[in-house]
Amino acid sequence: VKIVIIGAGIMGLSIARELALQSHEHEIIVLEKSIPGAEASSAAAGMLAPQLESTVSDALFELNLESRYLWDDFATQLKSESHIDLEYSVSGSHEQASVGQPSLQEKVAWMKSRSLGAALESDGSARYALDAQVNPRRLLQALLISAQKQPGIKIRKAVIDQITHTDAHTIGVEVEGTRVACDAVVLAAGAWSSQVKGSLLATNAVVPVRGQLIRFHSDATLMHAIEKRGHTYVFQRPGGDIIAGSTIEFVGFDKSTTADAIAELKRESQTLVPALAQLELCEQWAGLRPWTADQMPLIGSSRETPRLLYAAGHFRNGILLAPLTAKRIAAHVNSLSNQI
Ligand SMILES: Cc1cc2nc3c(=O)[nH]c(=O)nc-3n(C[C@H](O)[C@H](O)[C@H](O)COP(=O)(O)OP(=O)(O)OC[C@H]3O[C@@H](n4cnc5c(N)ncnc54)[C@H](O)[C@@H]3O)c2cc1C
Repeated sequence: VKIVIIGAGIMGLSIARELALQSHEHEIIVLEKSIPGAEASSAAAGMLAPQLESTVSDALFELNLESRYLWDDFATQLKSESHIDLEYSVSGSHEQASVGQPSLQEKVAWMKSRSLGAALESDGSARYALDAQVNPRRLLQALLISAQKQPGIKIRKAVIDQITHTDAHTIGVEVEGTRVACDAVVLAAGAWSSQVKGSLLATNAVVPVRGQLIRFHSDATLMHAIEKRGHTYVFQRPGGDIIAGSTIEFVGFDKSTTADAIAELKRESQTLVPALAQLELCEQWAGLRPWTADQMPLIGSSRETPRLLYAAGHFRNGILLAPLTAKRIAAHVNSLSNQI
């Protein structure tokens, strides 16, 4: 099967790798307008923390949980394929109760009833032992190395102008004026997915939402688990970097950081972890999350044609959901290949 993947973020690269690992018969072309991994995927914090991030047991929580279970294997395999240390760690997470928010007692109770490693502390805070973290920049490097080693995968720099489909059986893409025919197209263009002509998505189906982050560094271990209160989270990577985030801003495709948001992040993170007040700020950056109205990702084929597959709209959970998305899209492609 000849598959064109639009976008080489975590979605595009994870899907390409999974397809190549599952079959040597596939011809996989990944087309990226910029640098592989340079957008939301490398900008992410890297929490793999569905329990810390959820308040209710809904469909998104179940999806996130399912993907977290795939992470141990995903991280181990990627490390051995790329020889890159992903700074993957099942560090657990710790949620502090915040003023005006409901108590964490109920949340811990339903998580306990499902044996999800949740515990309530005497001060009303909650611990989730199974939440984890990874370093997204290292992860994207590892994915790129792994994908480049697969003979079936070609990664090219190109802007996709349009997805073309004349009927349910014919699909292709238009790259700088030239039409490339294929058997299936996977749209994995992150926050830009709705902008690609012929995507069959409403223009507001996937919208960019800016998130700003800051980084400190300490050689001393200041914390083990991911710490969170309200919207602010702070965690330390195994190598000593400390990440604090994040904002949620509907400002279009503007990736700049703002002095106010950075000052607020510094203040909030220092309240959460007072030792941060002694550290210099090392870095600040922003990325564009692919948001959808119900915050559920689009994973699967379009209603109009089974040859157009979506792997987009992962909003705050794209790093966490990568192994699950890759497996689901590969399953779609395989069922398609049986029909060809
Ligand atoms: C500040 C911040 C913190 C985050 N923290 C976390 C976290 O802790 N845990 C977590 O799980 N998730 C987190 N996320 C979310 C996560 O980063 C995203 O959900 C995920 O990276 C989306 O991956 P993607 O591959 O769909 O998009 P992207 O990484 O944006 O990749 C899409 C790619 O498509 C390319 N492209 C677009 N249009 C075209 C075109 N026409 N032709 C060719 N190429 C094109 C782009 O250049 C880009 O490289 C965070 C995001 C941000 C911004």
